[in-house]
Amino acid sequence: MSAGKRILYIEDNFDNRMLVRRLLEHEGFLVLEAENAHQALDLLESNTPDLILMDINMPEIDGYTLTRQIKSTSSTSQIPIIALTANVMRGDKERTLRAGCDGYIEKPIDIDTFIEQIYQYLNGKGSKQL
Ligand code: MN
Repeated sequence: MSAGKRILYIEDNFDNRMLVRRLLEHEGFLVLEAENAHQALDLLESNTPDLILMDINMPEIDGYTLTRQIKSTSSTSQIPIIALTANVMRGDKERTLRAGCDGYIEKPIDIDTFIEQIYQYLNGKGSKQL
């Protein structure tokens, strides 16, 4: 089910990148990583991942801005983007969805349900309901 599926994780924190990579690769996903918006946009010029996991709090260009940019570019607008963030207030969740994110996973991630959530979003069963 995960075979050949590529997931791009955009995250400035090294430890978070390592944890998520380990979980996703263990499940058989191919993981692309970017530690800032510039790296992410470079990667997206030559790769079309099946899903993007988006950190929100990043230096320089934050996840809201980057999400808007990806969603307003025709070659990348169809890629589902899931916010992965420690901003867990209700207003923050709404803000990620308004920026164009297709879903939301709270940090710290729950390693027991993380993969299940990934499959839901890959299968288009994530919802924008709050
Ligand atoms: Mn961050």
